[in-house]
Amino acid sequence: TKYVLVTGGVVSGLGKGVTASSIGVLLKNCGYRVTSIKIDPYLNVDAGTMSPFEHGEVFVLDDGGEADLDLGNYERFLDITLTRDSNITTGKIYQAVIERERRGDYLGKTVQVVPHVTDAIQDWIQRVAAQPVDGKAGVPHVCVIELGGTVGDIESAPFVEALRQFCIRVGDNICNVHVSLVPVIGVVGEQKTKPTQHSVQVLRSLGITPTFLACRSSYPLEDSVRSKLALFCNVPTANVLSLHDVSNIWRVPLIMQEQGAHRLLCAKLGLTEADKLDLTS
Ligand code: ADP
Repeated sequence: TKYVLVTGGVVSGLGKGVTASSIGVLLKNCGYRVTSIKIDPYLNVDAGTMSPFEHGEVFVLDDGGEADLDLGNYERFLDITLTRDSNITTGKIYQAVIERERRGDYLGKTVQVVPHVTDAIQDWIQRVAAQPVDGKAGVPHVCVIELGGTVGDIESAPFVEALRQFCIRVGDNICNVHVSLVPVIGVVGEQKTKPTQHSVQVLRSLGITPTFLACRSSYPLEDSVRSKLALFCNVPTANVLSLHDVSNIWRVPLIMQEQGAHRLLCAKLGLTEADKLDLTS
């Protein structure tokens, strides 16, 4: 299985969910079978106990799992049926680790965030990524993982560390997409790169190197801004994607495709024509 990790920086509510779903659509259109995982770094076990005024509408999955609305986006964009395990929360991970500790599964060891919680997160991701979600048998080709919140939050630290280790565990089979904000400031409407530079710095300081930048801005990225971001954030210019405001979120996969994101993603992940036929890969 190949993985695409979507992280976000600068502010929340940037459009990580829409970006993750759109990446899934692009890969599905290329002929690959896609599944997805949403990580919500809160202590609630699931979204069922959270006020919709604070959290937005709860999305109920076919198996009764109560989850974040992003899961609804994935199901609609990708025509898949996810399970409660597709939504990982801090609450669920800690519950599983504490249950194991009570059973004595850790054989007297001191149970710690690293390695026990981080291992539990990685094992959970690999287990869920292998489950078919499109009604056919066999393992999906790609799993898109969206990390909720913004990088640098205390809440998401164990997940970021687990994902750093996961990048080593799966080697070249993962690519990181960082969604960030490029604000437009001043009377001349200049696109500013500094917030993105800082957010990439935070991500890199935590050990995760972005392969793609997905830049949310009110209008398409100017060429000079794209080059500057590539230079300062250490990614190829072609991998700086403009995710400007569009009238309708269904257009987001199209603007990504116009920029060749599907080809770049498949090349980066080493997805080949042969993979499409091999349902057990
Ligand atoms: P996050 O997962 O980062 O919290 P979401 O994916 O839920 O963010 O998106 C937040 C809001 O931004 C949604 O209402 C979505 O419709 C909107 N949005 C996302 N991308 C775009 C875009 N390119 N153009 C216009 N609106 C967008």
